[in-house]
Amino acid sequence: MDLAQRIAAGDLRALARAATYIENRDARGEEVLRSLEAGGVREPLVLGVTGSPGAGKSTLVDRVARAYRQAGRTVAIVAVDPSSATSGGALLGDRIRMQSGLGDPGLFVRSMATRGAHGGLAAATANLVRLFGAAGRDVVIVETVGVGQAEVDVARLAQVTLVVLVPGMGDDVQAIKAGIMEIADVFVINKADHAGADQVENEVRAVLAMNDRAGPPPEIVRTVATRGEGVPELLEAIGRAPRRSRTFAPARGHAIDHLGIAVESIEAALAFYRDQLGMTVASRETVEVENVHVAMLPAGESRIELLEPASPGSVIAKFLEKRGPGLHHVALRVPDLAAAVERLRAGGARLLNEPRKGAGGHEYVFVHPASTGGVLLELIQDAQ
Ligand code: ZN
Repeated sequence: MDLAQRIAAGDLRALARAATYIENRDARGEEVLRSLEAGGVREPLVLGVTGSPGAGKSTLVDRVARAYRQAGRTVAIVAVDPSSATSGGALLGDRIRMQSGLGDPGLFVRSMATRGAHGGLAAATANLVRLFGAAGRDVVIVETVGVGQAEVDVARLAQVTLVVLVPGMGDDVQAIKAGIMEIADVFVINKADHAGADQVENEVRAVLAMNDRAGPPPEIVRTVATRGEGVPELLEAIGRAPRRSRTFAPARGHAIDHLGIAVESIEAALAFYRDQLGMTVASRETVEVENVHVAMLPAGESRIELLEPASPGSVIAKFLEKRGPGLHHVALRVPDLAAAVERLRAGGARLLNEPRKGAGGHEYVFVHPASTGGVLLELIQDAQ
């Protein structure tokens, strides 16, 4: 049996090995993913859990995992610690925790410390979530330590993000509100038997009241994780949260990010797309390096990108001259751009540029139509 077959048969050591391949960006990881996903994948419930150190996240995650196990659902936990490369603290904690899960093949725990670039961590985490989903886990819990951007990246992977707070945080609620308030689907006030639980809840409500995020406000649930109190209520709140609409889709696998259309004039094109079709313009900007004016119009989870030459020397001007207005490129989001570029190079694909940062700070690379079946293909790094 190959690795994918062993994983499909429930072999946990095979699963652990595939996870190591993914963390190390070994091509065998992507191979296993592809063969596991070939037969179709049932989407797992992906939970993100974040909050500052000392909030009791690990204990809470344990309790939540056990509650799902009691309900007959299989669980994988990914503990992401961008700071533990030097301290090793969180990893040690997870080893202890992993042992509490020993003997239960329905609970799989994986710790991941950062190595190298932060974007690489997000990509590796995204692929681990894919792996556990493809391996048939019903619930995948991704736990991070409170460090800002990494949490926002992780929230993109999750259908439901829990932000864990504790009484006595004081100004910390204010400190974490930037970014975190937007990603929270459920606020958990853990250690709710301590004095100050009301105060934390009031602070959260005050911050939420100032926030103009769309949709229903996140629920607030109180727990005492050490005793399992509030955990059933938390699971119910989680169950309600996936049903609420989300502003972004979970990042997994490949997705069409946008279609680039070359036009003589964005204004003239908007008379059709905006005024007649009723689409909205999310952003307009000039990308200097490409010499092009850009308008982005959201279309579900992808977008239409209108491209107008900013000068006669622009590639879009040349395209219009040769081919006339029309579809200029298809942009595909990929889980790991660096790995994709490496594979394309090895396979002899014709890349038109080194990966570089474009509009919105996303890294991208263009692949020549000669390699892609006749369409200019833009590859974009997902969740970075
Ligand atoms: Zn584009």
